[in-house]
Amino acid sequence: MANAVSFGDEALIALDTISDRAGGLLNPSLRLGVTGLSRAGKTVFITSLVHNLIHGGRLPLFEAQASQRITRANLQPQPDDGVPRFAYEDHIRAIVEGRNWPDSTRAISQLRLKIDFESASAWSRIFSGGTLNLDIVDYPGEWLLDLPLLSKSYRDFCAEALNLAKSDSRAKVSKHLVKLTEKTDPHAEASESTALELTKVFTEYLRECRRDDLALSTLPPGRFLMPGDMEGSPALTFAPLEIAKGQPRPNSKSLYAMMERRYEAYKTLVVKPFFREHITRLDRQIVLIDAMHAINAGSEALADLQRALSEVMMVFRTGTSNPISAFWRRRIDRILIAATKADHLHHTSHNQLEGIVRSVVDKAMKEARFSGAQVSTIAMAAVRSTREAEMRDGAETLPVVVGTPSRGEMVGGETFDGATETAVFPGDLPHTASELFSSSLKPGNHRFVKFRPPNLEVTADGLTLSLPHIRLDKALEFLVGDRLA
Ligand code: GDP
Repeated sequence: MANAVSFGDEALIALDTISDRAGGLLNPSLRLGVTGLSRAGKTVFITSLVHNLIHGGRLPLFEAQASQRITRANLQPQPDDGVPRFAYEDHIRAIVEGRNWPDSTRAISQLRLKIDFESASAWSRIFSGGTLNLDIVDYPGEWLLDLPLLSKSYRDFCAEALNLAKSDSRAKVSKHLVKLTEKTDPHAEASESTALELTKVFTEYLRECRRDDLALSTLPPGRFLMPGDMEGSPALTFAPLEIAKGQPRPNSKSLYAMMERRYEAYKTLVVKPFFREHITRLDRQIVLIDAMHAINAGSEALADLQRALSEVMMVFRTGTSNPISAFWRRRIDRILIAATKADHLHHTSHNQLEGIVRSVVDKAMKEARFSGAQVSTIAMAAVRSTREAEMRDGAETLPVVVGTPSRGEMVGGETFDGATETAVFPGDLPHTASELFSSSLKPGNHRFVKFRPPNLEVTADGLTLSLPHIRLDKALEFLVGDRLA
């Protein structure tokens, strides 16, 4: 296995740890990582969490809020000057004023929420003065899935990436990539134009895997889909090459050697700093998953989601078999895996969705031989865009959800204008774990409509209520409740 951490890394970590600890004594803080693959709901989750805390939203399962011990919550300048700020104000304006969903996460960003509270314990009252700085760190899950690369050579990466590309579930979208790699000679002289063409085709293939009907999740290298500020750099201009068994190693001027150098640069310049500077400083983590999207795409997509989750669990696993174990400065002690967008389902299906997530997570944890943090699962909606009703279908009464489909959404052959409400019966979720993972889980069994965010309710005395949600309070209780005790 390649050595993932150098002496220089350890010295840097020691220095950062001392300054983190000194700061933590004066200002108790909790660093909450929010991740998930693109479109999982990170931006919406953070925006709703902040809005509900600042405006005293209805959070009956979040004890500190329910017992009115939170005296004030407000935004403060964030501690890390080099990280972009999470654009809370733009996002909340989009949701509340425009009833539009905000722009999604494209890179890392951060926000500090200062929570003043009356502690239930005398000890905390003396030492922390009843203040907690909640540092929320939003980052693409795609970047997290790069961890396995740290212990993989370029040769291993090529073999795995191309094997996966040739697998049944990906064959539809990988034809071009497979053909191109077959006709590219790794021994040929290094050429920038060939590298660029291969990268383009490889990136297109990765993007295609995320198409709605496939919904495949496991796709390193993560920056190819979410480049952040590294777009176009040589470290992001490489692709897998096919090297036949028994062939001699290509020389140092070859295309292969060029790709190998860039792959190593990607690990050194992109992957390692990201883990060292951001992931290893987290205290808690929420991983958002769009389970319904995967269920709707069928058993292949669900198995792929489980594989992605197992790689996520490997990142947070304790022990020396983890290539970043020497990086950790704090120990993540709680991880919440949350299925988002539960407002697409009637509440009678919420526990079933939670059960499905639990089965997927249990399998993922077993595969990752996970140990360490306490892991919990939940089905939630950070923003509830529907209300519930019942509809008669002959002698049957169906539980439905009612909302305003976004402009252009099609339901039952009708195209919606973004202003008209409709009722949707989302279909039954699979009941058992075996049904879930068997090939009988066919694509397109469910109807998940994209609804617009809700109109906020106004009380009799003119007060606009906070964003409605499903179980956001339960998520908050697990993630921060004990730190406000
Ligand atoms: P990100 O890429 O993880 O930041 O994803 P976003 O937070 O931008 O969410 C992607 C899309 O999912 C949004 O544009 C919404 O259409 C949908 N979405 C996210 N959260 C919710 C939710 O709580 N309820 C509903 N109905 N839709 C949501």
